Amino acid sequence: MDTEQNVTQKAVIKISGIVQGVGFRPFVLRYADKNGIKGFVRNEGGQVLIHAFGNPRSLAAFADGILRDSPAGSRIISFDKRISELPPSELTPPGFIIAKSSADLSGEVMPTPDLAVCGDCLKELFTKGDPRYRNPFISCTLCGPRFSVLRRMPYDRENISMSDFPMCGFCASQYHDESDRRCHAQTVCCNGCGPVLGFVGAGCTASGEKALENAVRALKKGQIVAVKGIGGYHLACSPFLGFSADKLRILKGREHKPFAVMFSELSEIKEHCEVNPGEEALLCGSERPIVLLKRRENSSVSESVSLKSRFLGAFLPYTPLQCMLLKETGPLIMTSANATGLPIIKDDEEMLRFYNGHDELFGVLLHDRKIERRLDDSVMAFACGFPQFVRRARGFVPTAACYSGEGGPAVLSLGPQQKNTVCLSKNGYFYPSAEIGDLDTAEACGVYRGAVRDMRELFSIKPEVAVCDLHPDYESTRFAESLGLPLVRVQHHFAHIASVLAEENIKERVIGVAFDGTGCGTDGTVWGGEFLIASPFGFSRAGHISPVKFLGSDESVKQGWKSAFCLLAHAGITPSDGRFPVVEAALKNGVNTIISTSMGRVFDAVSSILGICHVSTYEGQCAVELENAAARYRGDAEALPYTISESETAFTADLTQCIKAVYESANKGLDPCFLAMRFHKTVSRLTVDMCLKLRQKYKIGSVALSGGVFQNRILVEDTVPVLKKAGFRVLLNKKVPPNDGGISLGQAYIGRFAGSGSEE
Ligand code: ZN
Ligand code: FE
Repeated sequence: MDTEQNVTQKAVIKISGIVQGVGFRPFVLRYADKNGIKGFVRNEGGQVLIHAFGNPRSLAAFADGILRDSPAGSRIISFDKRISELPPSELTPPGFIIAKSSADLSGEVMPTPDLAVCGDCLKELFTKGDPRYRNPFISCTLCGPRFSVLRRMPYDRENISMSDFPMCGFCASQYHDESDRRCHAQTVCCNGCGPVLGFVGAGCTASGEKALENAVRALKKGQIVAVKGIGGYHLACSPFLGFSADKLRILKGREHKPFAVMFSELSEIKEHCEVNPGEEALLCGSERPIVLLKRRENSSVSESVSLKSRFLGAFLPYTPLQCMLLKETGPLIMTSANATGLPIIKDDEEMLRFYNGHDELFGVLLHDRKIERRLDDSVMAFACGFPQFVRRARGFVPTAACYSGEGGPAVLSLGPQQKNTVCLSKNGYFYPSAEIGDLDTAEACGVYRGAVRDMRELFSIKPEVAVCDLHPDYESTRFAESLGLPLVRVQHHFAHIASVLAEENIKERVIGVAFDGTGCGTDGTVWGGEFLIASPFGFSRAGHISPVKFLGSDESVKQGWKSAFCLLAHAGITPSDGRFPVVEAALKNGVNTIISTSMGRVFDAVSSILGICHVSTYEGQCAVELENAAARYRGDAEALPYTISESETAFTADLTQCIKAVYESANKGLDPCFLAMRFHKTVSRLTVDMCLKLRQKYKIGSVALSGGVFQNRILVEDTVPVLKKAGFRVLLNKKVPPNDGGISLGQAYIGRFAGSGSEE
């Protein structure tokens, strides 16, 4: 046995992230006892500080255990461990204690995100005789609304919307009792105090249990009911009745985009979807995101819910009210209450106005606890064996997404136009906002400006640098210009790649592959199929797919068939379609045309050429349906031909031969699913080929993949293993979405290093 293990060392551990109000200190105490560690743990500012004394092996086991098993609601952003030999003057303490909190507020104070109702509260909720039996607002220190009820920092009763409800004597006694689970639970209330349910519906208003009964009855009949949630209202209806879902589509003005379904229990989800252990952990976590799961073929969920998608967005209830509701109704479609393209409705008056204007909506189940912050449900999916965001919002926001080490200026990045998020950075922490949505309406722009103001106040950050997109006409760009701060303009695809670099705090150069629909290039053309050599200090465009002339209007972007005609014209093919000459003439005369390397539009075009989907009624629909068609093909499929050429400055990958082959094979009547799969293989092969050439030329062995096209699971799962096998280190977004929702993080990361010079 080595003598080293008998030496006592001291470890000073500083942990930041979501580590307060989530049972972190008792957890550390347990692990200290388990490993024979002496010392103390205490809250210090927004951090947790541990002084741990023990031998090297038990100290290591202690630290590993904390990182591995930290409590459900917690999230560790940085874990700083400094080990020193014990100075002779310092004695090992006799035991391990939870010490009094330090009032030092110098650490990063982070507001906690909203937490799903916990098991203990659920038990009380359904136990007759409990003071909180059937209380739709039950919560404790480990669960309940947080960020969504927060008016200002710090997170105390008087600063949240629960301050509208004075505590009764019973709740107050628990609140002040240090041995109680509800000690300092800011959202505590019971049946004797706290908010009250209400129902407003056709000819009937009710409150309390009657309100819930009305909602249940209507939902069981297939009606649509609005239900107040955490960060806004949901529109709910049965997922088993096609006519309900169809009515909901009319109500929302949403033709084809799949709806998510809330199930009352995990076992119920498993009846309808395949669930792997990682997905199970996501579904049951305190963040309760919607998880895109493979739908079972025998699922009785109506076709109208997710249409042609092979996935079903499933999630579990996270408020006590949802738990009570679903216990009676069973699974419900739960989609954000708003007309398509507008922000989610959070205020009661606004909801009632919406109700009055929509005959399809039967009623509104509401209550008088105010929602202070608009938060959509988060959406995640598993790809390559780990979870990825599709949308980062409720449950995750406002937690910092990543940490890049101390220093750097305070940065405010303003995001792109679509799927907008903004991001604040201070002291090396990056705080992306919840997804605000597309800034195409006056309403969304109003919410956007409010969100920026709110974030600045909440984190009390005075930005020294603003960052925006290169595109001059983005609402976010114009807003950035109005701030009067030093402004850094960042190319869109560079920001995509930087979002991956930010997550891993990477400062060296990587090969960045950014595939998406559209982004303003540095040469005045529209980019979207890019191979960049990038570090946070700058980038060069080392490769791209070949530029094609497209029709440029926003309307044309949605028309996959128009993109198809443009690609066919580029390939010298004249399809026998009456509409082709019109498109051809527009291209020839340069009527509202653009030159673009958009990979997204190539996917749209192939979808249309194969007769799968011709028009997108939601972003990416043509491409999504192409992917679903490819997934239906079971068998081997080879890549189609393409070429890569090299000029002095960059490599160009030309897909003309591939497009020709797709067109000719489709005309011969070959299976569109088979051809869809061959197209995916082609893009995957092309990506790997380009990376190999770039590695040879630039001697860089890391590849970062980002951009909306990389939400395509077939593409990712085809490409990543091949890159890895070729010896590349492959980086994908894990903390923000690869789509435009991640742009603000990338912008902020670049902004953080702006002016600090290159470290290359
Ligand atoms: Zn609880
Ligand atoms: Fe993009």
